[in-house]
Amino acid sequence: MPRKSPRARRRTDPSSRLPGGRRPRVAPGRSRAKARRSGAHPGIASHAQGARRAASRSKAGRGRRAAPQARRARFAPPDPARVTALLEQLERLYPQATTALAFRDPLELLVATILSAQCTDERVNQVTPALFERYPDAAALAAARVADLEALIRPTGFFRAKTRSIRACCAEIVSRHGGQVPRTLEELTALHGVGRKTANVVLGNAFGIPGIVVDTHVGRLARRLDLTDQVDPVKVEHALMPIVPRERWSRFSHWLILHGRRVCVARRPRCSICPLAPHCPRVGVTDSQ
Ligand code: SF4
Repeated sequence: MPRKSPRARRRTDPSSRLPGGRRPRVAPGRSRAKARRSGAHPGIASHAQGARRAASRSKAGRGRRAAPQARRARFAPPDPARVTALLEQLERLYPQATTALAFRDPLELLVATILSAQCTDERVNQVTPALFERYPDAAALAAARVADLEALIRPTGFFRAKTRSIRACCAEIVSRHGGQVPRTLEELTALHGVGRKTANVVLGNAFGIPGIVVDTHVGRLARRLDLTDQVDPVKVEHALMPIVPRERWSRFSHWLILHGRRVCVARRPRCSICPLAPHCPRVGVTDSQ
């Protein structure tokens, strides 16, 4: 008699081998579908339980992967002596630092700052003389024809959104402030299209009221210099306010913007030639030149 394989010896139920033969029900009076739903059949039950176990293992695995994330260390405020050294060095480096936007009054600076979003200051300065010659005040800008305004500011990019912002902002300046640009952060940020950054530019440069402008350069340098670990611009601004003397807020923004453009560039900062290097912990810098 030929020897059976171990698998053949295990198959003891002959009905399962009959072509077209009905397989026995798992329990009297219960269909296989019902059994599948309830998981009564040992094999089906084991499949369902296995799936549940796999799902729970997977959930547990996700939990395990998420759990070991290192807790963010509490940020220690910078040493005041180091901050003073940084400020003195920055003042020596950029004694004449100011905004590169050309303007004659607060309204021109406000409009130029709106136009400078995603655009260079040089490009804005090429556009604004013709713009302000044709529309010399807030009322004229608010009443400008959309197509005419769009055509004038088109070179600055995003001209449709900027046209909407300028017209709406100027209409609010006329209706709420008698055509004069307001002088407080709250009133400025309440205007259409004016955020804290734009408001602080206007306050600091047109009214001489100190304000810290946090753009991409200021945020990046503040983190590299270990003055804050915040990423959100408003949180960066609030972190810098207590560590920089108030009278230097506006100039400090200009210093960091210039240093960020010339030396501490986003990719591969020029640490080897940077005069701030002795006071800079270079937080997050992995590659430099
Ligand atoms: S030392 Fe490097 S990281 Fe620090 S400010 Fe200078 S260029 Fe930037």
